[in-house]
Amino acid sequence: MSYSGPHSDPFGPTDPYDPYGSPRPRRSPLRRPLTVALAALVPGALLGWLAYETLGGAESGGDGGSNGAAGAGVGAGTPTGSLGSPSDSGSGSSDTPGTLSASPSQEAAPLKGKVVVIDPGHNVTNSQHTAEINRKVDIGTNRKECDTTGTSTDSGYSEARFTLDVAHRLRTLLREQGATVKLTQDGDRPFGPCVDERARIGNAAHADAVVSIHADGSAEGNRGFHVILPASVHEGAADTRAIVAPSKDLGKLIADDFARSTGSSPSNYIGDGTGLVTRQDLGGLNLSTVPKVFIECGNMRDTKDAALLTSGAWRQKAAQGISEGIVSFLRG
Ligand code: ZN
Repeated sequence: MSYSGPHSDPFGPTDPYDPYGSPRPRRSPLRRPLTVALAALVPGALLGWLAYETLGGAESGGDGGSNGAAGAGVGAGTPTGSLGSPSDSGSGSSDTPGTLSASPSQEAAPLKGKVVVIDPGHNVTNSQHTAEINRKVDIGTNRKECDTTGTSTDSGYSEARFTLDVAHRLRTLLREQGATVKLTQDGDRPFGPCVDERARIGNAAHADAVVSIHADGSAEGNRGFHVILPASVHEGAADTRAIVAPSKDLGKLIADDFARSTGSSPSNYIGDGTGLVTRQDLGGLNLSTVPKVFIECGNMRDTKDAALLTSGAWRQKAAQGISEGIVSFLRG
């Protein structure tokens, strides 16, 4: 929106809409829309605060809404309480000032307080560090390579690039839902992390859900996605008994939403058409103490699946499906 041209100042040095009503230095025209928006919000905020003072006492002891600012945010019709965007001001005048709805901030941020760890499988530069990634680490049931290079399409689009791209898209979607999101790697380290460290990152974050993103490297003609669930493992450093059930719930929800969002079918070569596979040989699952699944989004070695995996629009659908599954799981 624009209230004035770049070289005019129709409100003059003492802006009648200035809530402080006092002369102040001429400001950049770029600031005016925000000023007007803020000024428009003040009456609504005041009414909201008054309504809060009148009605809100009964709700004292609620989760964090026990101050005037929170009530004002509701009254002004800005569910997030953010005054940062001038475009938000339109909704303030259309809402009834002072109406206290149940929890608009929760509706806007249903995953507020939840922690999600995204594990982008492999690492784009693992291939330059073969000695490091071939080092064996303890995964409870046995010892296994620290990490692997992952697969790629026939045209050279690597699994590691795919996983990081989907992870970024997924992170954006989950943050929009209010979640705290952490990645195990963000192209910011020369190799790895090793699979045991990937698990520990989720554990240390006390993640409410962890998803490890992958794409498979199977034969041409093998198509579709599958979600890998942790088996019940109690051996050495591994004890998945507490996470088997919640991880299965998480995996089923992700599989359903992934299928719907992407239109992809469950794998035609593993999982008997369910899109679900349980494994006890993955350190990233064996060493997890928080609900965690892997998803193999498709088969990079199949021409038709590769056409999907290399499409940014399809990867967005993939991230959307995974995000929706996580949201369903965490909202219960
Ligand atoms: Zn992989």
